[in-house]
This record gives sequence, C-alpha cells and structure tokens, in this order.
Amino acid sequence: MSKNNYVVGFPRIGEQRELKKVLEEFWAKKCSYKEVKKVASELKKRHWNYQKEAGIEYISSNDFSLYDNVLDTSVMLGAIPKRFRNLKDEELYFAMARGNKEATACEMTKWFNTNYHYIVPELSLEDEYILDASKVIEEYLEAKELGIKTKINLVGPITYLGLSKRVDGGDCYELLSKILPLYEKLLVKINELDSDILVQFDEPIFVKDLDPTVYSLIKYTYDKLSINTKVAVVTYFEHSNEATNILVHTPVWAIGLDFVHGKENLESLETISKSAKKLIVGVVDGRNIWKNDFENSLKLLEDITKVVNKDDILVGASCSLLHVPFTLKYEEKQNIEIKNWLSYAVEKLDEISLISKKFFAQEYDKNSFLENFKANESRKTSKLIHSEEVKNRVKNLNSLEREGVYEQRIKLQKELLGYENLATTTIGSFPQTPEVRLARSGFKKGLISEEEYLKEMRAYIDDCVEFQEQCGLEVFVHGEPERNDMVEYFGEQLNGYGFSQNGWVQSYGSRCVKPPFIYGDISRAKPMTVEWISYAQSKTQKIMKGMLTGPVTILNWSFVRDDKPRSEVSKQIAVSLSDEVDDLQKAGIKIIQVDEAAFKEGYPLRDSKIKEYESWAVRDFKICVSKAKKETQIHTHMCYSEFNDIIKTIEAMDADVITIETARSGNELLKIFKKVGYKQEVGPGVYDIHSPRVPSVKEIKTQIKLLLEVLPKEQLWINPDCGLKTRKWKETKEALVNMVEAVNQVREELS
Ligand code: GLN
Ligand code: ZN
Repeated sequence: MSKNNYVVGFPRIGEQRELKKVLEEFWAKKCSYKEVKKVASELKKRHWNYQKEAGIEYISSNDFSLYDNVLDTSVMLGAIPKRFRNLKDEELYFAMARGNKEATACEMTKWFNTNYHYIVPELSLEDEYILDASKVIEEYLEAKELGIKTKINLVGPITYLGLSKRVDGGDCYELLSKILPLYEKLLVKINELDSDILVQFDEPIFVKDLDPTVYSLIKYTYDKLSINTKVAVVTYFEHSNEATNILVHTPVWAIGLDFVHGKENLESLETISKSAKKLIVGVVDGRNIWKNDFENSLKLLEDITKVVNKDDILVGASCSLLHVPFTLKYEEKQNIEIKNWLSYAVEKLDEISLISKKFFAQEYDKNSFLENFKANESRKTSKLIHSEEVKNRVKNLNSLEREGVYEQRIKLQKELLGYENLATTTIGSFPQTPEVRLARSGFKKGLISEEEYLKEMRAYIDDCVEFQEQCGLEVFVHGEPERNDMVEYFGEQLNGYGFSQNGWVQSYGSRCVKPPFIYGDISRAKPMTVEWISYAQSKTQKIMKGMLTGPVTILNWSFVRDDKPRSEVSKQIAVSLSDEVDDLQKAGIKIIQVDEAAFKEGYPLRDSKIKEYESWAVRDFKICVSKAKKETQIHTHMCYSEFNDIIKTIEAMDADVITIETARSGNELLKIFKKVGYKQEVGPGVYDIHSPRVPSVKEIKTQIKLLLEVLPKEQLWINPDCGLKTRKWKETKEALVNMVEAVNQVREELS
C-alpha cells in the first residue's frame, strides 16, 4: 500500500555525533579513511532503517555527506578550484573544506537563514567540468542492498549556481550551459540503475526574491531534467510562488512546499491542482523542536484537499530534518513535562507517518493521537510556560525611548566619562584558558565549590584588569570568564529557557551546536551580570563596560517556542534585559554594551517581510536599553561588516557607540556611515581577531589613518573587530599593546 509520505532529508552527524568523532580522529591522523567510511556506512544504514521502521515511503539517498552537500555537488561536477587540482579523492575533498598547508580552504557561508554552513563553490568560465557520479550511484546501491529503494537527492542546478561565486567575475548563472549537460548525463546514469527512480532537486533559492532572468531559467532547466526522469523539486524556508507557477508548466512529477514557514504557498494550490502534479506538503516543522499539533496539520491538509486532489498529496516535513537534533532518547535528565512537548528528527518521522496514516484513512495508532492532543493541550495552560505577570508587564509596556536625544547625551557622556578621541577598548571576552574552562565545567558538575569557583574567576578578572592597565587601554572589560557562550549564559539564568542534553545540530563539517530553547514566558529571576562587573569595576579607576547579549541575538541563536510570534518572545527578553541594564547602572557602571551579533542573521528571506522584522528588532533593542539614563553610555557590537542595506536601521537603534567587524576591508565598508551622515560614534575593528597573526604598529596605524579618511576622530573608537575568547593570551597581549601604541602615535601626529 502506498503510504504517501515523504522525508526531504535526514541529519547525518549521528545521534552520538559518531561522524564528528571519526572525522576528527581521521584529521588528527589517528585513524584511517577506511574507518571513516565504515562509520559513514553504519550511520546511513541506521538512518535509512529509522525511516523505514517509521513507515516512510520516500526515503533519500545522497542526503548523507562527509562534510557538506554543496561541496559534494562541486566534486560531482568537477568544479575544483585550481589550487586543489594536484590532489584527489578524500585528500582533495577535505582540503577544499578545510584547507591544507599550501592552499586556503574554500569559503563557507550560511545556508539561507539556518545555522548550517555550506562550502561556497568557486566557478569560472574557462574551467572544464566533468561529471563524477560515483557518490550518488554508490549510495543508491548501498541502500538498495539493504532492501530500500531510495529517491536520490541532488542540489538543484539553479540553487547551486545561485550560491556559487565566479572567480573570473561575472554572473554564475552564465555557467548553466556548462553544468546542465552534466546533470543530464547524471540522470542517464541514474535511469540505468533501476526503473522509475525519483530524483529530488533541492531548490531553496526559489524562496528568495530573484531576478527575472533567473526565473527565466527555471522552465528551460526543468524541461530538460524531467523529460525522461521522475523529478521532485522541493523548496523550503519560505514560499516559492513565483517558481511554482513556472514549474507547473514543466514535466516535473512533484513539487515540495513548506507550509510551516511559507503559508503563502497556499496561493499556488490552484495552479498545482490544474497541473495535476503531486504536492509534497511540508506540515511538520523541520526547523524547530516542538511536537507537531496533529489537529492543526490535519486541518491544513483537509483545507488543501478542497483545491488539490487528495491522491496527489504526499505528507512531509517543511524541510530536511538536518536542522533539528536526532532523538529524544538521550534526553534522560530533561524535565518530563517539557520533554513531552519536544520532538526531534526521529520522533518527527513518526509524526509524519501518523499524520499521513490518519489523513489517508489508513489504520493508525489512536493512542498516539490522543497523546499528541494531550501534550499540545498542556502547552496551552502549563504553569511552566505561562506567566500572567510577564504577559501583563510586556503588554503594558509603553516607554521605549531612553532619556535625552543623542546629541545631548553624547555631549554629557564625553564630559563625564572623559575619554579621548580614538578611545581604545575591546569587545568583551579575553582568551579562555584551559584553567578557566575547567573551573567552569567543574563548578557546573559540582566538582568544585562555589567559593573555589569564585576565586578562580576573580583571579582571571584581576589578570584582565591588570593587563589592561599595563597596556594602557582606556575603556575596560572584565573578560567574560564566567561565560561559556554568550547566549547560553543568559539563557541559563532566564525563566522560560531550556537546555538539551544531546540536542546537537550540525553547524558545519564536524562542528555541531546545541542551541538552547525558549519554551515559556521569559523573565529574570535575579541580576545576571552585576556581581561580576561590579567586582571588576572595584579593581580599577578606569571605566568598566557592562556586557550583555541583546534580545534579538538571544532569540536568533535559540530554538523559539512556536505558540507565540517571535516578535513577542523577543519583547519579553528585551524587558528582562532592561532590568539588567538598570541594575548595572545603579551599581555604578557607566558604559553598558549590548551585543547584537546575530541581528543581521535574523533578516527574512523575502524583502517584503524585512520592514516588519526591523520594526520589532529595533523596538526590542530600544526596550532593552530604555532605562539607561542619559549619562549612561550604551554600546552595541555587531559581527559583520556589510551595513549598506541596514545602516538606517542600525542608526534607529540609537546606541551611542557601535563596534563592528570591518578589519578585513580597509575603510571601504565604513564609507556607508559617512554617506548617510551617521551621527553616533563608531569603532570599526582595526585588526582581524579570527587569525593568530599579530598586527604590527605600522599596520594598525595605516588602518587607523584609512578610517580617519572617512570619519572624524571625534566619532571614532579603536578596538579589535570581535571578542578575543578564541585567541591565545600571548598574541592577544602583543596585538593590543601594538594597537594602543598605534593610537598614541596617531594622536601625536594629529596634535
Ligand atoms: N562580547 C562578546 C565577546 O567579546 C561578543 C562576541 C560576539 O559578538 N560574537 O565575546
Ligand atoms: Zn563580533
């Protein structure tokens, strides 16, 4: 019996991060490549079996990867940058991903609005591309041997080109005529393997606002690719209505759409129904960790059948399950009530299966349905989630603006704080030594007493203060030794925040992150940073900056509850943080930095939704600092350099000082600040902290002078371009000493 359900893709790192572990051993030359392949095979087998046992009809091969699927596609197409062409096989593959002694790695960047990073293809018109179908074919056969007939996943050619860069300049889409024939050849080979194999092309780029010329490629491409092959084109993370309207006029067999993050896809139902194509309905959220609400999903499916023939529907997840953790099996310590609201990849398979069974009136487990209903009901009322106090406070909030307008504030602050032009500071963290990490984890595990822990942390802060005094920096930081991570640290202290034991999600290559999750109304139980900062301030006459992570960054780096709009959750965080700002100020802290490292990451994929995001993101930053008196200077820090599109938004946040990451671009990227007449003070990083290299005094001076060509000295701060926690002390000290010296020399020359 046909089950009519569909899984776009499955995570691969392994529920115990087996792939991570074996890869890292291999890279450290502690095991052979054969061992890597063995673990990979075991994982593939396990993942296929999970899907089979759950009763999934369309299971993928080639969704597995030893590093990244886009990199796999480059290798498949023979798109190898020149500097790697002396290598082959796994050596080539991992060199492109990670670099080697002779060649720098390919660039890596975020996969749409997720925290997954792919390896950016480097293409050129003069390169010859040749097909290498081995991985695709081998994986298909591997599954077949286990008795599973898979669909074959491929990154679609238009998305592949859209994510590439041209090393010879020019437009990547120009290369379609070079790579499309390779895809066609591949399909011939696939069709030789078996009859009726389904090939899935992932085309998430279709959810962006594309140039008309790109839309014009869709029909041409998919006419060719689906003429002799059964093809499904899947999009996700947003609606793809423009592309859907074109795809219906090609011979593709199915179209997969995300109905969780792209509700507007409903507008395409009519044309899909006319075309009699199969529709893969993404109803189970592949981006979040909450249990599906079966009632809602079935209602959505029933609504869709008012337009689309029921027989043409396949039930699935909104996107690949790559973006959620593996299984709840290892969440042994999780609060039972909370655990009952969660669903990771393996559990989502059961959800997809159950929903499809019920929807297609097949036999299903009634008890599971009842359990699902109960779990969702309990979320509506649980005391763990709902706090009237928080809701009322947030609802009744109306003061957004802080005291005084910028011009008036900065004048006062300059007088009171007495810092010079080109004032020097750092972004917050200092190198995290093994001792600090050990003390922190020891304290967490109860291995050392609070007293001992405090002593260790304070000793570290003392060292930081002493170094900053010696070095001659002007505005100090305490160094953040108590923080493992800038979001986790706050999450752990906020009510409504949860942590998983084993909720790892692949970020890039072997790297995984374990995002915290927001399950309930957010409030602050007690001050979170005041003791640390006050202690640090007590050790110096200089100004000690208070250090907080901003509401939008906390939100963007967590799994967020799905029973409330993100904007409301963000507002709750902002309100909690506003109390922290006030407490710091009352404790005598004169400068407070609110980091918004992930502000830009949260931008929507569709231009039409940007305004709304910006309006609440700015609102919440402003709420967070709304209690700051005009004497209290508010800094913010952002971890990127391209401000062209968002400069007006940044200005509207109304921070007194912003430090940014422009060290690698000379003064080019700063020019936008001048162009728009940006008023507030700016600290464009003068050296790159991502490398251990120590910049010389001369280099930093050159950099400062470049900055002075764009903005006046009265408006500039001098600092590294991000926090220093991943650096070693030796290079950090040398670099900062050089930075201060460079500033002194420039000041002298200027006077
Ligand atoms: N204050 C943080 C630090 O210095 C900021 C880090 C970041 O923006 N990524 O570590
Ligand atoms: Zn940063």
